[in-house]
Amino acid sequence: MFNVPSMKELLRSADGELTEELRLKSNGLGLGHLPARLEPDALTTMVCGYCSTGCSLVIHMKDGQAINLSPDGRYPVNRGMACPKGWESLRVLDSSERAVVPWRRNEDGGWTAVSWEYAVLTFVSRMKALQEKYGKGSVAFLGTGQIPTEELAFLGTLAKFGMGFLHGDGNTRQCMASAVVAYKQSFGFDAPPYTYQDLEESDTLVFVGSNLCIAHPILWERVMRNPHQPRIIVVDPRRTETAQAATHHYAPQPKTDLTLLYGVAHLLLEWKAWDREFVERHTNDFGKFRVHVEAFTPAFVAQQCGMNVAEVEELARLIAEGQRVSFWWTMGVNQSHQGVLTAQALINLALMTGNIGRPGTGANSITGQCNAMGSRLFSNTASLLGGRDFTNLAHRRKVADILQIDGARIPETSGYAYDQIIDGIESGEIKGLWVIATNSAHSWIQQNRLKQAFKKLEFLVVQDMYRTSETAQLADLILPAAGWGEKDGTFINSERRIGRIRKVARAPGQALADFHIFRLLAEAWGLGPEFAAWRSPEAVFQILSRLSEGQPCDFSRLQTYDDISPLGVQWPVPAGDVEEQRRLFADGHFYHADGRARFIFGQPQAPRERLNPEFPYLLLTGRGSSAQWHTETRTRQSPILKRLYRDEAMIEISPEDARREGIAAEDWVQVSSAHGQAKFRCVITRKVKPGQVFISMHKDGVNGLIPSEFDPQSRQPSYKMCAVFIKKAH
Ligand code: SF4
Repeated sequence: MFNVPSMKELLRSADGELTEELRLKSNGLGLGHLPARLEPDALTTMVCGYCSTGCSLVIHMKDGQAINLSPDGRYPVNRGMACPKGWESLRVLDSSERAVVPWRRNEDGGWTAVSWEYAVLTFVSRMKALQEKYGKGSVAFLGTGQIPTEELAFLGTLAKFGMGFLHGDGNTRQCMASAVVAYKQSFGFDAPPYTYQDLEESDTLVFVGSNLCIAHPILWERVMRNPHQPRIIVVDPRRTETAQAATHHYAPQPKTDLTLLYGVAHLLLEWKAWDREFVERHTNDFGKFRVHVEAFTPAFVAQQCGMNVAEVEELARLIAEGQRVSFWWTMGVNQSHQGVLTAQALINLALMTGNIGRPGTGANSITGQCNAMGSRLFSNTASLLGGRDFTNLAHRRKVADILQIDGARIPETSGYAYDQIIDGIESGEIKGLWVIATNSAHSWIQQNRLKQAFKKLEFLVVQDMYRTSETAQLADLILPAAGWGEKDGTFINSERRIGRIRKVARAPGQALADFHIFRLLAEAWGLGPEFAAWRSPEAVFQILSRLSEGQPCDFSRLQTYDDISPLGVQWPVPAGDVEEQRRLFADGHFYHADGRARFIFGQPQAPRERLNPEFPYLLLTGRGSSAQWHTETRTRQSPILKRLYRDEAMIEISPEDARREGIAAEDWVQVSSAHGQAKFRCVITRKVKPGQVFISMHKDGVNGLIPSEFDPQSRQPSYKMCAVFIKKAH
C-alpha cells in the first residue's frame, strides 16, 4: 500500500492557506471564491503566460484579489505594451470549462468526479501495473512549454529518474526542436544569442518564415521603434501581414529557402562581402562551406526557388550592404523536413558576415511558447537537466551529484521523441500516457491517426486547466491543474530572460498547481524521501540554479526569487550588473571545446510530400491572429478575444484558383489531403499565390491534413508542406 495522505493533508500540502471546507465549498464555482487575502492591495508584476516574448504585466489587486492588469512600462521587453492575449490573461481563468475536480472515465464512457486520493491512487496503481506487466518503457509522458521551469524540471526528473519512465517529450518538439539542434551543432550549446534591443539596433533585419506582426506583435513594435530606418526583409511564400509591412518581400517556392540561403552565401563570397578576419579567428569548416555553395549560382537558385535572378541578387546585396544585419526565424524554418539545415544556413550567413556578437546582429531563433526556453534547458526530455546530454557519462555524473541520486537512475539516452511515442502507442509498445498542459489531439499532425492511437492506450491521463480540450475528452483520468496567475515560478523568454510568475488568483475548485500535483504523485509513488528537497517552487529554483552552474546558461548567482530583478535577468548571469542587457559571443568565443563556431551545411532535399494530380494545391499553415493562441483552449474562453477573429475556420485562396474551382468568398470549402479532410470558409485574397492555400493552425481539423514528415535530425514535423485538393462544399 502506498503512503497516500488524507484529503485534508493533500489539500494542506498543496495550499496551506486554504481550508478544506472552503475548497469544497468552492468546488465548481469558477473564480468567485478567492480567499480573504492572497496579496496586499497593491500592484505586483509577472511575466505573461502565452508567448515567448515574455512581456511583463502589472497585476492590480483589490481586497486580495487580482482584478485587472496593465502592461509594465518599466520592463525592458515590452516597455508598456501588450497584445490582446496579454490583456485578457486574467479573464480566461474564469471559465465554466475549467477542470475543478479530478474526473475518471466510467465504463459507459461517462465521467465521474472523484477525490484527489482516488485520482492519485489510480494514477500510481495503473502506471505501476503497466510497468510491471509490460516493462518500464510501456509508459510515457508528453509535456509542454507552458508551465514554469520549476514544474518542467519536477516533471522530467520525477518521471525519468523517479518513476522510471523511459520516454517523455514536450510540445516544444513541434516548434523549436530544429533551432535547438542547429544551435547545439553550430555554437556548441542551445544558445539564442540576441537581446531584443537588437531589433532596434539593426540597420537590416531579415525575417525568414516569421510572421512577426501576428505571432510576436510586441517584437514587431520594437522593430517599428528602430530609429535607423532599417531595411526590413521578409522571406516567406505568403504575403503575410509582416511581408506587407516590410520594405522588401521575397516569396520563394515553399521549402526552397535552404537553396535560396546558399545562393545568398554564394553571392557574398563572389562579391568578397564576407568577414575574413572573423571567419578565420572564430569559426571552423568555412573552406568546405565555400566549396559547397559554389554550385548555388544565381541562375540555379532562381530556377529552384521560383524567383528571378535579380531578386536573388537584390536580397544578397541588401545583406552585403548592411552594417548591422540580424537574421530572425520562427516556424517557417523550424517546421520543415530540413529545418535544422535551414536554421544553420542562416547561422552561416551571420558567421560569414561577422554579424554576431555585436549590437543589431545575430542568428536569432524566436521561440514560441512562454517557457519553451525553460523547457529546452530543464524539462529533462531532449536534453538532460541544464542543457546537458543524456549520452555523456560526465554529464550524468554531474547531475547525479547535484541531485544526490544514484547515477544509474539517469537513462543513457533521451528516450523517444514525440513522434516515436505516438508510433509506440500505435504499435502497442506504449500502453500508458500522461499528458501535461498540452492538447496533442488538436496540435499534432494527422489528428485522426493520433486519436485512434490514443484510444488504444490502456490508460491516458490528462493534467490540464480545462476539461474540454480535445485531448482531455479522450482521457481515462483528468487531473485538474491551476493555470498562469494561480501559481508561482519562473519563465525564460526568447532572449534568455528569466522572469517571475506569481500566484495572484485562487485556482477554482480542487484544481492544484502542477507543482503540487507532482508532489502528491511523488509521495504516492513512494518517492517522498527522494523529492523531499523539492518542497516548493523556490526550493526547486535553487536546485536549478546549482544545475546551471558552469553551463553556458549559468544563473547560479540567482539563488532565491529575491535575486531575480523585477526587470528579469538574462542568462548567463554575470558578476556585475545583472540588469544590463546581454547578447552572446561578443568576445567571439563559442561553446565548442575549441571556442569556435562551425559552418554546417548539407544538400537540399525535396520534401517527400509532393503535389500531384489528385492533390494539386499546396497547403501552408500558420498563425491566424494575435488574439488566438495555439489550439485556442485558453483564448476561446475570452469573449473579447473571440470578437477579434472569425470564429469559423478560414481558408485563404487566390482569386485565380477560386475562379477555377468555382468557389466564391464565404463559401464552405472541402479540403482533402492523403491524410484527412475538413471544411473551411473561403477568403479570397492575394496573400497567397495561385496554387497555394493557407489555413491558420488554431481550428481543430487543419492538423489532421498534415503528413508525417519530419526533419531527420530534430524530428520536428513539417507542418507547412501539405498537398491538398479543394472543392466547394455543398
Ligand atoms: S506578445 Fe506574448 S508575452 Fe506579450 S502580451 Fe502578447 S502573448 Fe503576452
